[in-house]
Amino acid sequence: MPIDIRRGNAEWQRRSLRNVWHPCTQMQRAAALPPLPIARGHGPWLEDHEGQRYFDTSSSWWVNLFGHADARIAAALKDQLDHLPHVMLAGCTHAPAVELAERLSALTGNVLGHCFFASDGASAVEIALKMSYHCWRNLGHGNKREFVCLRNGYHGETLGALSVTDVAVFRDAYDPLLLRARSVMSPDARQVEHGESPAAVATRAAHDLRRLLAATHEQIAAVIVEPLVQGAAGMVMYDPCYLRMLRALCDEFHVHLIADEIAVGCGRTGTFFAFEQAAAPGGEPLWPDFVCLSKGISGGFLPLSLVMTRDHIFDAFLDDDVARGFLHSHSYTGNPLACRAALAVLDRFVDDDVLRVNRQRAEELTRSLAPLQEDPRIEHWRQRGMIWAFDVREELAGPRFSEQFHLAGRKNELLIRPIGRSVYLLPPYVLDDTLSNWLAERVTNTLDAVTPR
Ligand SMILES: *Cc1c(COP(=O)(O)O)cnc(C)c1O
Repeated sequence: MPIDIRRGNAEWQRRSLRNVWHPCTQMQRAAALPPLPIARGHGPWLEDHEGQRYFDTSSSWWVNLFGHADARIAAALKDQLDHLPHVMLAGCTHAPAVELAERLSALTGNVLGHCFFASDGASAVEIALKMSYHCWRNLGHGNKREFVCLRNGYHGETLGALSVTDVAVFRDAYDPLLLRARSVMSPDARQVEHGESPAAVATRAAHDLRRLLAATHEQIAAVIVEPLVQGAAGMVMYDPCYLRMLRALCDEFHVHLIADEIAVGCGRTGTFFAFEQAAAPGGEPLWPDFVCLSKGISGGFLPLSLVMTRDHIFDAFLDDDVARGFLHSHSYTGNPLACRAALAVLDRFVDDDVLRVNRQRAEELTRSLAPLQEDPRIEHWRQRGMIWAFDVREELAGPRFSEQFHLAGRKNELLIRPIGRSVYLLPPYVLDDTLSNWLAERVTNTLDAVTPR
C-alpha cells in the first residue's frame, strides 16, 4: 500500500516517537527535537510531508553517493527484482556477486582478489578482525590475537567493531563487554605544534605505533585504520604519508593492515580507494591486507558491505578441514539486489568519469566556501576530495551546539548534523556551480544564526 503522504509531519513524528526507537538519539530529547518525517528524495534533496525541502549535506550518513532515487541505479534494481531478489551464497552463486567481486578486485590490480560479503559496515569489520586472527592461527601463530587501532577511530558498534572504536560517546557504556584493543596516537593534523607540518605529526604518530609494535607484535594480529579521514571523530584528516609508514611498519613487524574504507571508499577522498593515496608520488602502488567497504558502495539503496583480501591470506584457509575454513555465516550475504545496486554504482563511476568530474566539483565548492575559510569564528579548516570540515571555536560553541546548528540548518533548507563542534559537508556527487554557491550561502547563514558575528 502506498504511504499516505496527505498526512502531515506532526502525525508521522508523533507515531514515530511512539513505536520507533531511533538510533544515535536520546529518546527523551526526541520530543523537543523530533525527527524530520521525509516523504521523498530526489537528487541531493529530501522533502518532508508538507513539501518543505532539505539539502542532504551528509549524503544520509555518507551512503548516498549519487543523490536520492537515482534513476540509473533504480532501473538496475527494478530489473534485478524481476529476476532474482535473493539466493543464498553458500552452495549457490549468482552473476551480480561474481561481477562485483571481479570488478572491485580489478580496481586493486587484483592484489585484493578475494571478496567476502556482508550487509553492514560493522559486520565487515568483524569479518576482517576474525579473518586476520584465524589466518594467523592457521599459520601456527594463534598467539597473535590482539588488535591495534587509532585514537578517535571509529569502526562500527557491534561488540567486536566497538572494541577497536575509540569514540567515547559510543563506547563508554559498553566498555566492560569489549575485547581489549590497544590504541595509538592518531595522526590528526590538528595536532601540529609551532610550525610543524601535518607530515611531522604523522611521523610522530608512526613512532608511537612503532614503539607499540616493537614491544608487542608477537601478540598483534592486525592494525585497523580509517585511511586519510577519521569520519565519526569529526572528519579528522591526516597526511597520506602516515599510510605509507603504516604499511612499512606492518610489513616489518608481521601484522596485518586493515583499511576500513567504509566511509572513505568509493571516491569520497578523490581516489576510488582512499588507500591509493598511500603511494609516494610516482612510487609503487601500496595496498593494505584487508579493505572493508560499505556505505556508498550500494549508493544508498540497500545495505551491503564486503571485505577484500589478498591471495596469501585466502590461501591460509585452504584445507580439508572445515574448521580451518573461514566461518562467518550471514543470511543475506551477497544479496543479489544489493550487489546489483553496487554494480550500477560502479557503472556510474565509468560512464560519468566521476573521479575526474568530482575534482572540478570539489574546486567549485571550495571556491564558494572561501570566505568561510577565513572566518574568525572557525578553526582547523580542512578538505579532502568530497569532504569539507571546520571546527567552530570552543568559546563560541555552547554545550548544545550541534543540536542548535542542526535546527538552524533546517530553517535554511539544510539537513546538517555537526559532530560536536565540527561542522562538515559530505555531499552527494551531484553538485554544480549553482548548488555550490547556494550551499556555501546557507551554511554561512546557519553559522550566523548560532554564532552571531
Ligand atoms: C559507518 C562506519 C562503520 C560502520 O558501518 P555500519 O554500516 O554503520 O555498521 C564502520 N567504519 C567506518 C569508518 C564507518 O564510517
